[in-house]
Amino acid sequence: MEGERERSYLIKELFGPTLQGEGAHAGTPCVFLRFAVCNLACAWCDTDFRPEGALRLAAPEIVARLEALDVHGARLVVVTGGEPTLHWDAPLADALRAAGFRVHMESNGTRPLRAPVDWLTVSPKPRWHGVGDRLVLTQADEIKVIVEADLAHPDAALLERYEAMAFTHRFLQPCMDERYPEHLARAIALATARPRWRVSLQLHKILDLP
Ligand code: SF4
Repeated sequence: MEGERERSYLIKELFGPTLQGEGAHAGTPCVFLRFAVCNLACAWCDTDFRPEGALRLAAPEIVARLEALDVHGARLVVVTGGEPTLHWDAPLADALRAAGFRVHMESNGTRPLRAPVDWLTVSPKPRWHGVGDRLVLTQADEIKVIVEADLAHPDAALLERYEAMAFTHRFLQPCMDERYPEHLARAIALATARPRWRVSLQLHKILDLP
């Protein structure tokens, strides 16, 4: 707005075109918008979300960069982080929608969503929430739970809690660390025994995509 300083957003990286790697839309062409900064500090985190080296961009600059990346016209942006709900607001949501982008967001679910998205993935990290399970986003298109066989995570009680919440799709995703075969075996066993869940693999890692 004239006379007002336009808000800028702390962006760690924008990249694409690539494929969404996880969940119900695995394999779908998209571009990525990754915000800096997270409110959690999960031990398994493989994402550099530190603000060092991040870009400060206004909404029109973000849209212009995503349009330039979206060379095949997929018009799907996956918004992640860090924790995207720390930044996400109506002006950016409106700017992306006006440019024809559908927005799919992945959040750790511990903060409210201040503006709408087209698809919300909640990926809770209950072992790292600090005090119990601080999940506030208990309604979403999908929930994705990381499976760690060595820590017996998630246990049956946690899965039952998530089954009682309003998630349309439920995914168990084995952690891709050095014990991946054990995590995968446990994810398969859990999903086989609980038909409301499916296994999600990190397709982008298997295909060596960014
Ligand atoms: S919530 Fe996600 S981005 Fe944040 S520390 Fe945990 S794994 Fe990393």
